[in-house]
Amino acid sequence: MSAAFHGANFCWMNGEIVECEKALVSAMEPIHLGIFEGIKAYAEGDVNGKGQLDIFRWSAHVERLWRSAAVCGMKVPYTQEELLDASKNVVKANGFDTNVYIQPRIWPRAGAQDRVHVVVPVWKFDTLLGKDNARFSKSRRFMVSSWRRVASDALPAQAKAWANYANSALAMREAERLGFHGAIFLDSRGFVSEGTGACIMAVRDGKIVTPPVTASILESVTRETLLETVPRDLGIPVEVRDISRVELYASEEAFLCGTGWEITPITSVDDLPLGKEYPGIVTKRVAEHYADLLAGNIEKHKQWLTPV
Ligand code: PMP
Repeated sequence: MSAAFHGANFCWMNGEIVECEKALVSAMEPIHLGIFEGIKAYAEGDVNGKGQLDIFRWSAHVERLWRSAAVCGMKVPYTQEELLDASKNVVKANGFDTNVYIQPRIWPRAGAQDRVHVVVPVWKFDTLLGKDNARFSKSRRFMVSSWRRVASDALPAQAKAWANYANSALAMREAERLGFHGAIFLDSRGFVSEGTGACIMAVRDGKIVTPPVTASILESVTRETLLETVPRDLGIPVEVRDISRVELYASEEAFLCGTGWEITPITSVDDLPLGKEYPGIVTKRVAEHYADLLAGNIEKHKQWLTPV
């Protein structure tokens, strides 16, 4: 590994800040039961800015991390407060003052299944969001994957377990091999589930529709944030219900939503273009609203931000 990991020189490992290069474990580690969390902190006032960083929805993310650990039979040997301090300290140790991704990882130690490793890597990323961001409107061809999304009676689909991401990686590899930008999973029943690392929302008759948790999706913090704020703040109705593949093809717009993928517009699915305009008007409004939430520009939702 090179000295810096995505621009980060330091991570937090089992209670201390260490150089990424020295954050080493044995190759004998059992990695199949690992879990993790994906959290972002954005610059206050402008998602493309610099300066004070605020973590978006820390509590919701850390609660899910604890739930993921419990589902996989692991106990986190730190308090949520200690993990927050660790996350803040590792961002500061790296001297970051622009957007960062924070990815706490937990997995059982070799030969001591009741003990775990806890590591918090952080790295910088470029957002798709913000005013006049050309990255947002880039064309994106998606395909319906030939891989079904893992069923929650086979793997913990609603938890953020690494094992689920073998499913995502296979779908992404297939998509890339066939010249697409991304993949959308159907669930084991044949209904639309989600993307490879984000939930999906489609627009039908001006209304947003999104699959239920029972469609094998990860319980997404972003999806929940939009369910709570989009109807009230933007006056756009959001309905949680099963979506068929054909309905997705016939939607006016569709976009992915998640911490990593933010709001990512979809141009076409299986080369069938969606709607008349790209990115669609609803997708644009949701993306602007989400950027405002992240940057703390909406007073009534500022309680979701935790300063680094
Ligand atoms: N589904 C999957 C499989 C994911 O990896 C993610 C990213 N965590 C999401 C959905 C979106 O979840 P969130 O909004 O909490 O980031």
